[in-house]
Amino acid sequence: RAKEKGRNDFQIFNSDMKSVSLNRLKLENELRRAIAQEEFVLFYQPQVDIETGRIVGVEALIRWAHPEKGLISPNHFISFAEESGLIVPIGEWVLRAACKQNKIWQNQGFPKMPISVNLSMRQFFQHNLKGKISHVLEQTGLDPQYLELEITESMTMDVDHAIQSLLELKELGVHVSIDDFGTGYSSLYYLKKFPIDKLKIDRSFVRDIMVDPNDAAIVTTIIAMTHHLNLKVIAEGVETEEQLHFLHQNRCNEVQGYWFSPPVDAVELEHMLSHGVPAAASSSATSS
Ligand code: C2E
Ligand code: MG
Ligand code: MG
Ligand code: MG
Repeated sequence: RAKEKGRNDFQIFNSDMKSVSLNRLKLENELRRAIAQEEFVLFYQPQVDIETGRIVGVEALIRWAHPEKGLISPNHFISFAEESGLIVPIGEWVLRAACKQNKIWQNQGFPKMPISVNLSMRQFFQHNLKGKISHVLEQTGLDPQYLELEITESMTMDVDHAIQSLLELKELGVHVSIDDFGTGYSSLYYLKKFPIDKLKIDRSFVRDIMVDPNDAAIVTTIIAMTHHLNLKVIAEGVETEEQLHFLHQNRCNEVQGYWFSPPVDAVELEHMLSHGVPAAASSSATSS
C-alpha cells in the first residue's frame, strides 16, 4: 500500500478515497450488526440540584459495546449514524432502554426523576414522532413527565416544524430541553415561542467562566434570561468547585459535570442515588 501510494498524487488521492469509503462501508455494516445484536449500552450522568446537592435527573448517553474494540464513545459513531439514517433505529433503542431503566429505578423505590434522552435531527423530523414516543412510554409503563427530550438549536431552524413538533411532544406530557445552548442558531424571538422547559448551557461557556469575562457574562446572561422566561437552566461540563460556586451565586438551577460524576453504568448510578454524589457534601451544593 505504501509503495502504491508513493507513486503520484492522483493515486494517493485515489487510494485514500477508496479506504475512506471502505471504512464507511465497514462501519455501516458493523453498525447494522450492532443494531441487530443490540450491542449498545446506556451510561447515565447525574443532574444535580444546585441548592440541595441532590440528584434530580439523569442524562442517558449511549456507548457502543463493540465485541473487539470495547466501549466506543458516541463521538465516534453518532454523526455517521445520523448521515446514514441508522440513527433512527439506534435512537429508538436508546429511548426504549432509557424509559425501561427509569421505570426499573422507580419500581426499586428510588425518588422519581426525569431521564433525559438526546434526540437526533432525523428523529425530530421523523413522521409520527409523537406516536412512536407514546408507544415506548406505554410499553415501558413510564409516566411521560419522567421523560425529557433534548434537542439542539439546529433542529429549531425550521421554526414552524419545531413549534408543531414541540407542541405535540408537550401534549404527550414529556419535557423538552435545548442542549448545547448558545452554540447554534438561536433567535431570542422564537425562543419565547417554543414550548420548552429547560436550557442546557453548553460546556464550552462553562469551561472558562473563571478566566474569561466574556464567558462569565454569557453564562450569567443566559441564566437571567431563563428566569425571566420561566425556563429551568442547567449548566453542562461543571468540572471545578469554583465553577460550581459561580453558578450557584448566579442562581443556576442545576449542574451536570465531572465535578459530580462522569456518565456511569446503571449500577454505579444506583449507588449515587442511594448515597448521593460524593462532591456534593464538600461543596456549596450541600446534601441534606
Ligand atoms: P451531550 O448530549 O451534550 O452530552 C454531554 C457530553 O459531555 C457527554 O459526552 C458527557 O460525557 C460529556 N461531559 C459531561 N460532563 C462533562 C465534563 O465535566 N467535562 C467534559 N469534558 N465533558 C463532560 P458523551 O457521552 O461522549 O456524548 C457526546 C455527545 O454524543 C452528546 O453530547 C450527544 O450529542 C451525543 N449522544 C450521546 N448519546 C446519544 C444518544 O443516545 N443519541 C444521540 N442522538 N446522541 C447522543
Ligand atoms: Mg445531551
Ligand atoms: Mg450538551
Ligand atoms: Mg453535545
